[in-house]
Amino acid sequence: MNLQTEDEKKLIQQHLDDLLQNCPRCQKEEDLKLVMKAFNLANEAHKGVKRKSGEPYIIHPIEVAKIVASEIGLGAKAIASALMHDVVEDTDYTVDDIERLFGPKIASIVDGLTKISGVFDANSSLQAENFRKMLLTLTDDIRVILIKLADRLHNMRTLDSLALHKQLKIAGETIYLYAPLAHRLGLYNIKSELEDLSLKYRYPKVYEEIKELITDSEKRRMQHINRFSLPIIQKLEENNIDFEINGRPKSIYSIWKKIQTKNVAFEDIYDLLAIRIVFNPYPHIPEKTQCWHIYSLITDIYKPKPDRIRDWVSTPKANGYEALHATVMGPNGQWVEVQIRSRRMDEIAERGFAAHWKYKDVDTTTQENELDKWIKRVREMLENPESNALEFLDEFKLNLFSSEIVVFTPKGETKTLPKGATALDFAYEIHSEIGNKAIGAKVNHKLVPLSYKLNSGDQVEVITASTQKPVIESLAQVVTAKAKSAIKSALKAETKNRIEKGRQAVESALTALGIQPSSRVFKKILPAYDVLSKDELYSKVGSGIIVLTDLKKILKKNTPNKWIRYWGLQFNKTNLRKKDKRHIDLEDEDDNQAKFDFRKPYLLTESTDTQSASYLVAKCCNPIPGDEVIGYLTEEENVIIHKATCAEAIRIMSQYGNRIVTAKWTTHKILSFLARIEIKGMDRIGILSELIKVISDELQVNIRKLSIESHDGIFESWIDLYVHNISDLNNLIMNVMKIKGIDNVNRIEKFDD
Ligand code: MN
Repeated sequence: MNLQTEDEKKLIQQHLDDLLQNCPRCQKEEDLKLVMKAFNLANEAHKGVKRKSGEPYIIHPIEVAKIVASEIGLGAKAIASALMHDVVEDTDYTVDDIERLFGPKIASIVDGLTKISGVFDANSSLQAENFRKMLLTLTDDIRVILIKLADRLHNMRTLDSLALHKQLKIAGETIYLYAPLAHRLGLYNIKSELEDLSLKYRYPKVYEEIKELITDSEKRRMQHINRFSLPIIQKLEENNIDFEINGRPKSIYSIWKKIQTKNVAFEDIYDLLAIRIVFNPYPHIPEKTQCWHIYSLITDIYKPKPDRIRDWVSTPKANGYEALHATVMGPNGQWVEVQIRSRRMDEIAERGFAAHWKYKDVDTTTQENELDKWIKRVREMLENPESNALEFLDEFKLNLFSSEIVVFTPKGETKTLPKGATALDFAYEIHSEIGNKAIGAKVNHKLVPLSYKLNSGDQVEVITASTQKPVIESLAQVVTAKAKSAIKSALKAETKNRIEKGRQAVESALTALGIQPSSRVFKKILPAYDVLSKDELYSKVGSGIIVLTDLKKILKKNTPNKWIRYWGLQFNKTNLRKKDKRHIDLEDEDDNQAKFDFRKPYLLTESTDTQSASYLVAKCCNPIPGDEVIGYLTEEENVIIHKATCAEAIRIMSQYGNRIVTAKWTTHKILSFLARIEIKGMDRIGILSELIKVISDELQVNIRKLSIESHDGIFESWIDLYVHNISDLNNLIMNVMKIKGIDNVNRIEKFDD
C-alpha cells in the first residue's frame, strides 16, 4: 500500500534537506549517517500518520531536530534522538529496538523523552509529580530536557491547527513551566519565543495590538538608535575594535509584562532604548578587560548612571549569562542601556547551555560553571525522599524566577543564592549539617542573627554549636528549597526520635505500675495530660514537657467524658525569696465537672516536699486562667487569688505587702473556673434558644446558672459559666455578640453565687 503520495514525499525531502543544511555539527560522514539512519527509522515508523494540520507526521520530528541542531546547537546524537522522539511513544517500536539499532546512549535519551511525554495531563498534583520526573532526567542527560523544549517550541509554532481548549492548555503550560525552564537553562531566544507564542494564544487581541504598535514605531526607534550609535561606532573603530552594534529588540511579551506590572504606556517602554555591542576579542587579553575598555570608551562620550552598572563579567548569573551592562545618558537626554559582550558571551546568552559545552575547553577556569552548580542543586532537591511533589514544584518555580545574589565564603569562594536569602540559607548552601548546627553568623565580620538577609557581595561566616538543632521556627528564616527541605527532614528525624524515647518512657512507667498499655488506659491518660493522640503524648514525654510522676493517680481517677483542659498555678513567694512550683490536684471523687464548686479550697502539692496548701479564688474579681493574677497568703497558709487589676487586691497590697505572692497560671492542670457574663439586647422570639445553642456549642463551656429578664422589648440576662481560661471566655463572648439582636456582652467580675 502506498502510504505517502509523491507530493508528501517531496515535502518531507524539502524539510529534511533544510535540516541537513542547518546542522553545523552533523557534517562529518559518520554523523550524517547516524542522522539519516534515525530519519529513515522515524519516517518508516510514522508512515501514513498525519498531524492535525494534515501534513505527514514526520515533518514534526524533522522540525524538532532542526531546532535542536540550529537553535540550540546540539550534535548528531541529539539530532538523531530528536528525529525519533515520538517513535516509542506513538508507534510499535520499543526502547530495546532503538538500543539494538543505535546503542545505549541514544536509546536512553529516547526513553527519557518517552517517559516525560504527556507530562502535563490530568490533575495538578500529578502534573507536578510528572514535572519532577522530567527534571529528574536532568540527572541522566540534559539533552532530554533540551529536546523536550524544542518539541514544545515546535508544537507552539504549529498550535493553530488545534482546538481552542487545547491551545489554551498548551499555551498555559508553556508560560507556567517551559518558558521559565528555558530561561533557567539560558536559552534566551527560545524563552522569548515561547513567551510570545503563549501570549498570542492566551490573549490574541493584546498580542496583535502590541505587534502593530511595534511596527508603527520601528522607524522612529531606529532613528534614535542610529543617532546614539554613530559616535560610539567612530570611537570603537578608531580603537581597532572588531564589533557589531544592534538596537536590542524587545519581545512582545516583555512589553506586555511591563505594561501590566509597571502600569505604564506602551510608548514609555518602547522608547527606552537599549543597544548591544558584541565584539570579537583579541587573543591573550582577558575578555573582561576588553569589556571594561569598551565601557570606558563609551563613557568618554556619554555620561554613565553610576548605580546602573551590572557586572556579570566578573560574576556570571546562575544561568551562565555573562555581560557588562551600563546605562548612559543619550544625546536626547534619555537613558540608554548598553550591553557589552564578547562573541562567546553573546552565544551563551542566546543559546544558553549548549554554547557552554562548545566553549568548555576554551574556558581556562577549572571552576564548574554556574549552570552545573544549578543542576547539582536541582538534583539535590530531587534526591531528597522527603520532598513532596507540589511543594517541590512551588519551591523550584520560586528558584526559577527569583533573581540572585552572590556572596562569599571566608575563603573567598562565591555562592549564588536567590534574592532574600538569609545567613541560615547560606549555612545550608554550604552543607546541611552546617545549617543544622548554625547558631549565628558573621557578615562582613559583624555578628548577625541567622535570619539576617544577605546582600550581594557580603562575606559570610557561619557560627555553629554541636548541640544546636533546627526548630520549627527555622523554616520561617529561610527561602531556599534546599534549606527548607533540610530543616524539614531534620525536624522529622527529631520528632521520630522523641516519640520513640517517649514511647519507651510511657511503656516502662506503665509496666512499673503493672499495667498493660491498652486503648482503655490511653483513654484515661490522654485527656489528663491534655493531649490529643498517643504520638503527641510520646513526643511531649520524650521532650520532657510532660513528666509521668502522677501517672498512678490519673489511672485511679474517674475521668470526665469530655476533653478538658487542665490548668494550674505557679507561685512565687517573693516574701520568702524562694521560688516553688506547686501543682494543684483535684479531689478524686467527682466525675462531672459541672458539679464542681471550684471556689472550695483545693490541695496544693509542692513538688519538693509533701507539704500542702490550698488556694481560693477571690470573689471580688473571680479571676480565671489567662487573667493577670496575684496571690495573698493568709495566716493559715492559704493563697487567695485576685486579678492583678482588682481594686481590693491593690488595697491589700498596700497594707500587707509581705503577704503578697506572685502567681502565674501554668498549663496542664485543674478544671474549670466560674465566670459570669452579662448580655443585653433587643428581645425577639427565639433569641434565648439561639443563645443557649451558641453557649452549648462551645465545647469547653458549661452553664451553671442562668437568669433572664425581658421588659419593654429589652432583653437582659446573666449567665454563670464554667470556663477553662480567658480565651475560652473571649471566644464565647465573640460568638454571643454575633447573635442577631444582641448588642452588648460583658464579663462581670464581681458576683456572689
Ligand atoms: Mn513531539
